Amino acid sequence: MKIAVYPGSFDPITFGHIDIIERAVTLFDKVIVTVSQNFEKTPWFTAAERCEMIKDSVSGLANCEVDHFKGLLVDYVSRMHGTAIIRGLRALSDFEFEFKMALMNRSLAEDITTVFMMPHARYTHVSSSLVREVAGLGGDVSMLVPDHVARMLKKKLA
Ligand code: ADP
Repeated sequence: MKIAVYPGSFDPITFGHIDIIERAVTLFDKVIVTVSQNFEKTPWFTAAERCEMIKDSVSGLANCEVDHFKGLLVDYVSRMHGTAIIRGLRALSDFEFEFKMALMNRSLAEDITTVFMMPHARYTHVSSSLVREVAGLGGDVSMLVPDHVARMLKKKLA
């Protein structure tokens, strides 16, 4: 059974993340979307809230699970019996950071491979931070996130 882990902040999940998940589930037997701790970012949503929003977004995908973890990603992937890490690549700006992280993870665990996937062109500009910024300024985010996420953003801002 080929298991892939898709880690991220998902603060909140966007149509860009969902596009990557929908592609990944066609390539792997099981995809675990997992909320990770990012020490560089202060999240808007708790890990539990982010997991809930992901669960609501992937409920139609039978081979997709949702989880969260703390600690080293490669240790988590091994615990889950995964062999691949999924990451999304939008523009050149993602490349340097992702390249360094993939090489670091490979040096920590040779048997785990990072797989980069590109979303549909219509989502290459979408990021969680942009969604938070637009929502925070009262803009319409319906083109960027599912309705249930837009509702959570409104609730958080209220
Ligand atoms: P992290 O803090 O780990 O970067 P993010 O939630 O910002 O968490 O992103 C998780 C992964 O999803 C990253 O690989 C990122 O490049 C990818 N990603 C984010 N937004 C998009 C998008 N619009 N299209 C494709 N991939 C994306």
